[in-house]
Amino acid sequence: MSDQNEITVRVVRSKRKTIGLHITKDGNAEVRAPYYATKGEIESFIRENTEWIRKHAAQARERAQIAEQTPKLSQTELNHLVRVARKVFAERVAYYAPLLGVSYNKITVRKQRTRWGSCTKDGNLSFNALLVLAPPEVLDSVVVHELCHRLEMNHSPRFYAQIDRVFPDYKKWDKWLKKNGDALLNRLPSDQ
Ligand SMILES: [Zn+2]
Repeated sequence: MSDQNEITVRVVRSKRKTIGLHITKDGNAEVRAPYYATKGEIESFIRENTEWIRKHAAQARERAQIAEQTPKLSQTELNHLVRVARKVFAERVAYYAPLLGVSYNKITVRKQRTRWGSCTKDGNLSFNALLVLAPPEVLDSVVVHELCHRLEMNHSPRFYAQIDRVFPDYKKWDKWLKKNGDALLNRLPSDQ
């Protein structure tokens, strides 16, 4: 039986010019080295970075474990979520758009792993259905964020001043999403 805390360090050679380090999702390490790096160079690189590897491998394992334990939504639940989300987002966008004095175009709800929302320059909005599972303030914070891109297509202080005008608690709920967002995304079925 292998020790659960044992970390495998794999050496991958490539055309790169420097030695680099990568932690895999399952909490092991990959040392990426140029073809011409000697065994001794690689070994001393690993020795110098042992603490870093241990720390980050442990974090990756913890994340992997949490992901594994998170109950996944079934396709039926997910489709239901999208239907609910369509209504909720339409309603929240309709509430905040006049407060900000902006217009918008189409609202699309997606089940996706990569982002919470987006806004095109034509005012087409898209939102992640999983936000319905977060506190309502979090959903609102994403709605306001995207609508504010109708005023500022950037993340400048002017952009955040617009957010502040209608949603002063923005920072708090944005922080919530940064902290808990991964757990939310982990609820997507693995084939999604
Ligand atoms: Zn943005």
